[in-house]
Amino acid sequence: MLQQRTLKTLTRAVGVGLHSGQRVELTLRPAQPDTGIVFRRVDLPEPVDIPITAQAVTDTRLASTISAGNAKVHTVEHLMSACAGLGIDNLYIDITAEEVPILDGSSASFVFLLQSAGVELQKAPRRFIRVKRPVEVREGQGAQSKWARLTPYHGYKLNFEIDFDHPAVDSTGQRVEFDLGSGNYSRDIARARTFGFTRDVEMMRANGLALGGGLDNAIVMDDYKVLNSDGLRYDDEFVKHKILDAMGDLYIIGKPLLAEYTAFRSGHAMNNRLLRELLAQPDAWEIVTFDDERQAPSGFAQPARAW
Ligand SMILES: [Zn+2]
Repeated sequence: MLQQRTLKTLTRAVGVGLHSGQRVELTLRPAQPDTGIVFRRVDLPEPVDIPITAQAVTDTRLASTISAGNAKVHTVEHLMSACAGLGIDNLYIDITAEEVPILDGSSASFVFLLQSAGVELQKAPRRFIRVKRPVEVREGQGAQSKWARLTPYHGYKLNFEIDFDHPAVDSTGQRVEFDLGSGNYSRDIARARTFGFTRDVEMMRANGLALGGGLDNAIVMDDYKVLNSDGLRYDDEFVKHKILDAMGDLYIIGKPLLAEYTAFRSGHAMNNRLLRELLAQPDAWEIVTFDDERQAPSGFAQPARAW
């Protein structure tokens, strides 16, 4: 049986929020089978649980925010991406502020944290959402158009293409295909950092945003070039970060997908619209489990590889 996964033991991290600049502590704890991933705001007078679901996403400007009542957690996508990459099904994430720490701007530190706590197999079948027919969302016309699509695939594959019209971005790879079954999430995707432009950063700061952002947790560009003295971690780091984000945004649906995701200029808002569109068409998907691991997509039964 292909089993659900949680952590062997708890683990902690401390950092600052990208937008709030606030210090925040995270405690990642094992959870029972079928718990899913649940954020818990432990700094509020009464702790509030915020389980991830497509409907829990209430804001997608700059980052993905989930809410339950008035309690929020901003910027969940990089941690969610690490959980998707390592196949973690059940996890409590205790958090002491309303934003996940940015750490180095990628999901590599989260991968390291999860792997050092160890992954535990649980006595319950892993439930997947298998996409049975194409579902697509689209917006804009011509040069402004963007779209994202899920199609049937025995495994989980993502294709992303960017188009930023910026010299430093255009000189890098514009398109990436990544198959989770390769086992190379940690090596090929997790280290890709978030990125921003100095002109936007100045405007965001004036509005009280990006207060925790800087060259140690983002790729920062002026109008012409990358300002980080060490340059890029991958030749195609920008589009790989978009794959990292998409994996996090899509994992908010609460179960791993069996599908191929293809997107052109998509972002947090469109990724969430795609999940809602899928859920709104119950005949486009079904829940499946694998009693026999040999029936599962190749690579899915193995533990995720480290670097
Ligand atoms: Zn991101």
